[in-house]
Parts: sequence; structure tokens; C-alpha cells
Amino acid sequence: MGYIELDLLEETTRKIVIGIDLGTTNSLPAIWRDGRPEVLRVEGEPALVPSVVNFPEEGPPLVGHAARAQAVVDPRHTIFSIKRFMGRGLADARADARSLPFEVSENENGVLQIDVRGRKITPPEISALILRRVIEQAEEAFGGAEVQSAVITVPAYFDDAQRQATRDAARLAGIDVLRIVNEPTAASLAYGLDQGDAGTVAVYDLGGGTFDVSILSIEEGVFGVLATAGDTHLGGDDFDAALVDLMREELARDLPEEDLDDPAFLQAARLAAEKCKIALSGSPAHDLALSLPSSGTTWRRTVTREEFEQRIAPLVERTLDACRRCLSDAKLRADEVDEVVLVGGSTRVPAVRAAVEKLFGRPPHTGLDPDQVVALGAAAQAQVLMGGTRDILLMDVTPLSLGLETMGGAVAKLIERNSRVPCSHTEGFTTYVDGQTAIDFHIVQGERELAEDCRTLGRFRLSGIPPMAAGMARVAVRFHIDADGVLTVTAKEQTSGVAAEIECKPMHGLTDEEVEEMLAAGFENAQADFDARRVADLKAELGTMLRAVDKNQETARKQLDRETLEDLEEATQAARKAREGNDLDALVRSRDRLEQASQPLAAVLMDAVVKEAVTGKKLEDV
Ligand code: ADP
Ligand code: MG
Repeated sequence: MGYIELDLLEETTRKIVIGIDLGTTNSLPAIWRDGRPEVLRVEGEPALVPSVVNFPEEGPPLVGHAARAQAVVDPRHTIFSIKRFMGRGLADARADARSLPFEVSENENGVLQIDVRGRKITPPEISALILRRVIEQAEEAFGGAEVQSAVITVPAYFDDAQRQATRDAARLAGIDVLRIVNEPTAASLAYGLDQGDAGTVAVYDLGGGTFDVSILSIEEGVFGVLATAGDTHLGGDDFDAALVDLMREELARDLPEEDLDDPAFLQAARLAAEKCKIALSGSPAHDLALSLPSSGTTWRRTVTREEFEQRIAPLVERTLDACRRCLSDAKLRADEVDEVVLVGGSTRVPAVRAAVEKLFGRPPHTGLDPDQVVALGAAAQAQVLMGGTRDILLMDVTPLSLGLETMGGAVAKLIERNSRVPCSHTEGFTTYVDGQTAIDFHIVQGERELAEDCRTLGRFRLSGIPPMAAGMARVAVRFHIDADGVLTVTAKEQTSGVAAEIECKPMHGLTDEEVEEMLAAGFENAQADFDARRVADLKAELGTMLRAVDKNQETARKQLDRETLEDLEEATQAARKAREGNDLDALVRSRDRLEQASQPLAAVLMDAVVKEAVTGKKLEDV
């Protein structure tokens, strides 16, 4: 009897599949219901779950609003923005870790750990707590259903390790991941842009602590990411900070400095600033108010929208710069973008909307709530993956080029950056030495020309190649990136059939900064790399010229007058000296000088050749 009851219970527990926006600042669940996506919220409670975890002295961790409320009284045990640390090691995260009131270390696998109340906890574990809270909200909102699996969104620039860490968090939270989907793609899905006739979509996402912009292409229902750009340390928090600065400037007259630097004061100031900022999105002026516990009074000051907008103008301008960069990466003009989508709570600021509209020359989509649009899109995608009707294919993009180190330390790029995934590319390699039975492969990621300047993703060895003459082995190396962005490299020697494979899952991913830095370095160093090649070319050219002069020493000594000969000898010496160094200018100068000084010799030689051809006639007579 008992068994039957249990079975019945099992059957009546409805299992649901949802979409989750796992954000840096806020997270949110949504589900597809009655032909459209809707946010899952509990009546009378806010929809967004702050991505904040507080570890109290006793009892289980607090998550969401409860944790955020603790930030003022217990800043030392309250964790914000854990998303920044997902899939990253200590070295990657150092810069961000400095702003944390926690000790951070690394476990033996290179995974970052945060020391909270004597316990070491990893970012995926903290994310799992947030996910758990989001799932509970979904289950409650859906009347006691059970979340079985979810589509979870991540920024388009998230690398392998960061996506993997997100999967780990879901596993820890006890759900299956149906698919990891890029946030901008999800936002476009929420607006149904996959169904219209838009060719290109710009998604401008300004959240709490990060900004990113993506340009997507939609062709016959197929989604691709053409380019992404952004700033991982720019968002609504910086708008708050602008108002906190204003408070500190004015309070500096009345309060001692140590009060202004007190973590609890700063936390309270930040919350007051955010409140005022949010109000200013809806009204032309609002009071910035802060109770000062030291004096028991409340400090108050009216801020106009205009004043606020002036203070944040440089920040908004920085987002526009990133948009321009993104457009240029996508090789598009602003007016070639068909649709503009706004994502993230900070796009509610009227000045931000206006700036984006002006840059792209068209009004952005604002029909959906900008802080819900990603979760709604994730729910739409979950519906598709569960066999729903919308027929779309998602494609994402690799943030950096992928390749192999070749002989001499250069990089053979197999997959260019901003390539759509899933994708694959195969290239042929061979042996360099007779009888060579193994080849070592070094897989790198980055935009630089030399392997040592790129990031190592992995190394593997293809062994068991039958001995043959150098260059005879035919090794096909295939790079494959799957829909989740995981790279698999396979190498196969064609004549013997020996093969090796490696799945590139780095311990901890690239930092966002690192991606940006590596991208920037690629552009900055393009000049340096170019110069290095020029130097090599010039040295080769000088070598040829010097050999030619050497070969014709006899003729030079016999036929040139003393002055010309001396000039040539000096130029030759200078060229030999320049050839020993790597000074591009010196090489160019000595090449030009040698060219000029060897003109008379060249003329004599030419004369001789012509004389030979036109027998008996002098050059002047021809
Ligand atoms: P994330 O994607 O980083 O998790 P969200 O998209 O939820 O973040 O955006 C959070 C940010 O949006 C916060 O900085 C918050 O203050 C800001 N925000 C929310 N509502 C408004 C509003 N009405 N006006 C201005 N900023 C807002
Ligand atoms: Mg977001």
C-alpha cells in the first residue's frame, strides 16, 4: 500500500524545465507557458534574486535578498559578484580578489578557493547556492513542481573553463544543464528576432558590474555571433560609485576620514546611491539620503537627473567606444545593424538609452523588461530543446583564435577568433626528421604571431608513427568546437592510422581581462610582430646585396675610381654591422646606403653585360 502511495506521489510531482539567467548581480528563472516565456516569481516577492551569499556565524548560508540585507552589517562574510571568479585560477583572479574581504587561495587542481569563516569554498559552490535559491523560487512559483533541468545563460565571452564551471555549479545544485546559451542570443530569442527578417542584431548589455555588446547575425533562423566587445569592470555599480563619490565629497567636511572609509558606511552609502539612481530613471530629481549612525542624523541632498547624467557621462561614453570596436570587428557600420536590443538593469537609465539610440541611429527594443529578457530567452530556448516548435539553431562564437605551434615557434591558426561554433577545421602536418615516430602538439589560444606569446591550452603527443623519411608522414590535425564551446583536438597519421585525441578543458579559464588583454595585445603588437618580420626580411635582403658586392670585388677594384670604391667599402662595412643587430631603422638606412653606393658598380657590371650583348658598341651609342 505504502509503495503505491509513493508511486502516486512520484507521478504527481510535476517536473519542469526552465531557463535561468545566472547573473553577476541578479539571477532569475523563467519558463515557457501557454505559448510564451514568463518569469517565475512568487506573489508579493521581487522577481530578481540578488546573486549574493552571506555566511552567518551559525546556520546555513543566506542567499538573495536576505544576504544582500546582511551586506551592511556583515560585509566581511557577504560574497558578491562570484560570477567573476567562475572557472578561474588564483593568477587569473588576483586583480578582482583584491576587492574581496576574503582570503583566496588555490586548491591542488588550480581551482580558486575563498576562505570564509575558516572554510574553503569554490566559486561553483557559491554559484550553486544561488542557483538553488533560484530553483526554489521557480518551484514555489510553479506550485510545488520540481525543476529537472535548465538552460543557463553565460556571457558570450565566457571561455571553456567558465562554461564548465557553470555546469559544475548546476550539477552541485542538483539539476541537469540542457544547454549553456549566450546571454545576447537569449535576449534576441526573447524578442523573437529569430522569426523576423532581421539580418543583424546589436545586443547592448549593461548590468551591475559588467558591460558587453554583441553583434549577432540571423540568417534563415540560424543564429551567429559576429563579434563581441565590452568591459568586465563597468556597470551600474560604477553609477552608484559616482553618487557615493558625491556623498563622500560633501560629507568630508563633517566626517573624519576613517568614518568615510569604514566598510559598513561604504556599503550603506552604496545602497543609498543605488536607490537614488533607480528613482532618477523615473523622475527628474530625487533625494540622496543616508543615516549617519555616529551622529544619529540623516544626511540628505537632492540630486537632479541632469547632475547624475553628467557624472556618469564618461562611463556611458566608454560603453559607446566598445560598441564602435564591436562594429568594426564585425565589419559593419552602425546603420547596417537592423535591430538593437537593450539588456541589463542599467539600460533603464534614460541617458544610456538615448546614447545607444543615437549611436545606432534607431530606437532600441524596450518592450520587455531589460533585467528579465535574458531569462525569458533562456526559457524560450529550453522550450525548443524540449522539442518545442520554434525551429532555430544556436551558434556562438570563439572569443580568441585557436591554433598549433609550428616549427620555429610560430602559430598556425586553425580556428580564427569570432568563428561560429560548433565548428571544425583540419590541417595537414608532417615529420621534420627522418625516422621520427612521434610528434608533439602544443595547442594555443590568442592573437599573437608567436606561440610563446599566446596562452597554452594543452599539449599532447602523437606517437607510434612508423619510421619514414622526413616529410612523408601525413598527419591530419582536426580542431573541433562543440555547441557548448568545448574544444577537442584529434591528430591522425593517415598512412598508418595511428591517432591521438585531447579534450581541452583547462583547469581554470582565461580571465575576461586576459581575453581583453590578449585581444588588445594582438592589435598593439601587430606593429611589433610586423617589425620583427621586416627586420628578418631586411637582413636577408642585405645578405644578398653583400654577397653580390663580394662576388664582384675584382671588378670593383679595377673599374671604380678611388672615391667610389671607398664609399662602397664604407657602405659595405656599415651594412655588415647593421646586419648583426635588430634595429629596423639602421637596417633600412644601411640598405639604402649600400644600394646607392653600389650603383656605380652595378652600372659597370650592367655595362659589361650590355657590351657583351651589343658587341663592339659602347653603352652611350645604343
Ligand atoms: P547583472 O546582469 O549584472 O546580474 P542586472 O541586469 O540585474 O545585472 O542589472 C543590475 C543593475 O541594474 C544594478 O546596478 C541596478 O542598480 C541597476 N538597475 C536596476 N534597475 C534600475 C533602474 N530602474 N535604473 C537604473 N539602474 C537600475
Ligand atoms: Mg545580466
